[in-house]
Amino acid sequence: MNNLILSLKYRPQSLDKVVGQKYIVMAIKNSLDMKYINHIWLFSGSYGVGKTSIARILAKSLNCKIKISYKPCRKCVNCIKIEKNNFIDVIEIDGASKTKIEDIKDLLDNIKYLPIIGRFKIYIIDEVHMLSKYSFNALLKILENPPSHIIFILATTDPQKIPETVLSRCLHFYLNKISNYEINKSIVKILKKEKIIFEKKAILSLSNFANGSMRDALNLTDQAIILGKKKILNSNVNKMLGLIDIENSLILLEYIFYKKYEKTINLIKNISTKNINWNLFIYDIINIIHQIYLCKFNIIIKKNHKYYIYYDRIKNLSNLTSLEEIKLYYKILIKGTKNLYLAPNLYIGFEMIILEILTINNKNII
Ligand SMILES: [Zn+2]
Repeated sequence: MNNLILSLKYRPQSLDKVVGQKYIVMAIKNSLDMKYINHIWLFSGSYGVGKTSIARILAKSLNCKIKISYKPCRKCVNCIKIEKNNFIDVIEIDGASKTKIEDIKDLLDNIKYLPIIGRFKIYIIDEVHMLSKYSFNALLKILENPPSHIIFILATTDPQKIPETVLSRCLHFYLNKISNYEINKSIVKILKKEKIIFEKKAILSLSNFANGSMRDALNLTDQAIILGKKKILNSNVNKMLGLIDIENSLILLEYIFYKKYEKTINLIKNISTKNINWNLFIYDIINIIHQIYLCKFNIIIKKNHKYYIYYDRIKNLSNLTSLEEIKLYYKILIKGTKNLYLAPNLYIGFEMIILEILTINNKNII
């Protein structure tokens, strides 16, 4: 493995390498195939889902010396320079730092000049929603009637902040969060290629934690590689992310369900000495409650599910309590996630949620 960080090394350079955006990739491919070249493209979606990567691939596809193609050659001087981010006719602007009207005016003054080397002069404006009202107005004049040699590729995490007048002129693609499954599959493939030893459970945790962002998943993988000296171990990943092992969540619920109150409180106290993410701990408990609820309907956990190996214990818990009680626990936990940050600290917030459940669990505690 060389020193380049994974999120840079594995940034997709062609549409077929983009993870988890199947339909958008298909639409762009078809558009390029049919030579339907729109002059204003907009990619919206949350952080790390591939907006800027797709924008750069599109710029390369449109300016590859060989031909306009969804598979740019990656060998011609245009492709190579675009990949190195030093191609004169692909201009990247960070909307977050170039918000002033003067910045946009400079850009617009140059628009009249034809591309120097490329087929098109392409402006990629990242975080476009950050532009000021005046900048948008100035931009709109060009967008209303863009010269044929100009292409705008806009990217944003917040399309609602873009004026309707601008939005209506864009070919707008909504990028979805990438599924945990896709992220996991992709990370496993990369690690095998990089010959990094890993535990499957650790990669599952990293993928879930990344919450749909491939960039976050790769950054976390980098951290885990460094932490474990090229070995990704579940115990290290749990520590790194502040995750609690499912085993602990399950033991906590068993104590609650078996009415072992002192043990419940002691367990929380013990856990509080570790660096854990209390929010994720609650979500883990909610997930188990959800499985207990499903057991009441005799729904069996599927084989590839992360709780599959705990099925017998979960089923056992479902036999110990009523449907009404489970519903109530669920409500308390969900409400608790909203209120957790209002507590003096997260440990107290978490303990109060569990104490509320214990009160339901034993009507004598009043
Ligand atoms: Zn090329």
